[in-house]
Amino acid sequence: MDKINIEEIFATNVFTRSVMEQYLPKDAYREVIHVMEHGGELSRETANVVAQGMKNWAVEKGATHYTHWFQPLTGFTAEKHDSFISHPDADGKMMMEFSGKELIKGESDGSSFPSGGLRATFEARGYTAWDITSPAFVREDATGTILCIPTAFCSYKGEALDKKTPLLRSVQALNEQALRIVRLFGNTTSSRVTPCVGAEQEYFIIDREKYLKRYDLIYSGRTLFGANAPKGQEMSDHYYGSIRERIGSFMKDVNIELWKLGVTAKTQHNEVAPAQHELAPIYETVNVAVDHNQLIMETLRKVAERHNLTCLLHEKPFHGINGSGKHNNWSLTTDDGINMLDPGDTPNANIQFLLVLACIIKAVDTHADLLRQSASDVGNDLRLGADEAPPAIVSIFLGDQLDDVVRQLVETGEAKHLKNNEILATGVDTLPDLLIDPTDRNRTSPFAFTGNKFEFRMVGSADSIGDPNVILNTIVAESFCEAADILEAADNFDLACHDLIKEYLAKHQRIIFNGNGYSPEWVKEAARRGLPNLPTMLDAIDTLTTPKAIGLFEKFNIFTQAELESRKEVLYETYSKTLNIEANCMVEMASKQIIPAGFLYMKDLAGAVKLANNVGVSDRAARNILKEVTELLENLEDAIEALKKALSEAQNVKGNKEKAFTYRDSVKVCMDRLREPADRLETITDKSIWPFPTYEDLLFEV
Ligand code: ADP
Ligand code: MG
Repeated sequence: MDKINIEEIFATNVFTRSVMEQYLPKDAYREVIHVMEHGGELSRETANVVAQGMKNWAVEKGATHYTHWFQPLTGFTAEKHDSFISHPDADGKMMMEFSGKELIKGESDGSSFPSGGLRATFEARGYTAWDITSPAFVREDATGTILCIPTAFCSYKGEALDKKTPLLRSVQALNEQALRIVRLFGNTTSSRVTPCVGAEQEYFIIDREKYLKRYDLIYSGRTLFGANAPKGQEMSDHYYGSIRERIGSFMKDVNIELWKLGVTAKTQHNEVAPAQHELAPIYETVNVAVDHNQLIMETLRKVAERHNLTCLLHEKPFHGINGSGKHNNWSLTTDDGINMLDPGDTPNANIQFLLVLACIIKAVDTHADLLRQSASDVGNDLRLGADEAPPAIVSIFLGDQLDDVVRQLVETGEAKHLKNNEILATGVDTLPDLLIDPTDRNRTSPFAFTGNKFEFRMVGSADSIGDPNVILNTIVAESFCEAADILEAADNFDLACHDLIKEYLAKHQRIIFNGNGYSPEWVKEAARRGLPNLPTMLDAIDTLTTPKAIGLFEKFNIFTQAELESRKEVLYETYSKTLNIEANCMVEMASKQIIPAGFLYMKDLAGAVKLANNVGVSDRAARNILKEVTELLENLEDAIEALKKALSEAQNVKGNKEKAFTYRDSVKVCMDRLREPADRLETITDKSIWPFPTYEDLLFEV
């Protein structure tokens, strides 16, 4: 077996700081680092120098093209390749070209990307701008070697058309407010506070030949038909099970690709459902983590194909077994390595921690609706609240010990002891030393404190983690800002801080829930507490433009109202378009594959009845099955007609929002009705006639 040396291959395809140091003159290098760390823009001269250095490095790696790699509102990444080629000179010799202008700003027509009306077509051009805080890299695949420059994508007037621009804005807002908090506690040394994120990615792997035989998987990434296999995930034998050779060799190649791209692929294991797996990198600054999660998804897809496998990132590829999600682990770290979510071991650190905790609790309670919205996409509707993923109701899990501390603080204004019975002597009379047990887990909670970070578990597996982190950063920035306004003006800081913690906890403790989030009682209890329950993606979209949300986003310059309105339009449109594709696909599969298979089987059965009569044996079995098949075919035919009718009505509805709701309330209902007889027919039809691979074939024969 080939030896793999991680140290040698790690980040070999990344334009890292040390590569920059090697390829750039000292002054240019220094300017780049300064802009990376403190913001601002590169001078035109430096940009030219950096472009030269980057090009030289990439060309040595074999690159022929460069691309501005960006993240439009589709949730995927987009790229347009330009080769380094230029006009040959009089002798026909070619000079490779790449200027600072091309590095920093790219004109990208991109007028077909969703913009929700932000760009009228006459000013359709958008531009992409280099995000210097995320390193450039070269990507090797069948296209060759391409230099990829992570970029933001904006309209000509500067309105955000992507997922990165608001994220960068939110990182800046949170940095400013978090610094005010650490300063209040006497920290004069940290100069930046950055959110750090580690995103665990779940996915399914199936055989590619079989995948190509199913139009539903090809068009919508999930099965729209399919009876359950005799076995599902009930034995838990797949979870953490030993990894099969074929999957193992795929994982090995994924890791190598990711390591080369500087992605710290760390853990891999089999997940709960058959054919389901997980990959987690080590956490890093949020901006890079978002880009790297895109690279992880892209790499999983590409490498799977090379192994004649297909990676399904959809949130619910198969009915009846678990779907896939993404756990977004989030913390706040200073540039000198202090994690603000770490309880710490001095009383002073404890108080800061409790203030940060109280602020986060307040933020999540105040904006639970926005957080829920940020984790919604069409696929995630099939998963949230379905006993396999957190409910659509946002709540916070703190664990027994911290929960008890919060209760003591709310009830008496003091927290004198920890739940594990010890009375703790601390330097301060109001607070115990905190030693949080990180193993305290509640898998049913959407937002759980896990030792020194919060784990947001609602995010869908196919979705970008950009949106949830924009919301987290922004709502916490708002809380910090309000707390800092009060505490900076206080005469007695200790007293004011103590009172503020108590006030926030008392006011917002309704969002804390340590019980079973999957239980129906919780839905009732949450309603009693007044927590928002937004069961589907469509229910959550308008939360983006409530006066509360507009106030929040405008205050911290994350989104203008126009940008929010445009995002809403895109979301409604996406919903309708996705369902339209799924419904059309169902009609096609049912009419052209399932019904003909049913007829074939009918013919066989009718032949069997005749034969039985001819030879004078009982025709009972054949007759009964024939009757059932015929009935199911009638049901199917009716259901196809009903779905077609619902579809054409929905297609004619005016207005993005109205249309989306029609798809949900009418088309989707008809889709479910069509699936039922089809799946029943599958369970009684001769397997050799069934027109496409079944769940058994897909899930258990990889
Ligand atoms: P589990 O499945 O038990 O939740 P994993 O090891 O699969 O744990 O994933 C945990 C994720 O959380 C990893 O990506 C890890 O790097 C990340 N993580 C750990 N500490 C922090 C932190 N302080 N801030 C953000 N993410 C963190
Ligand atoms: Mg994990």
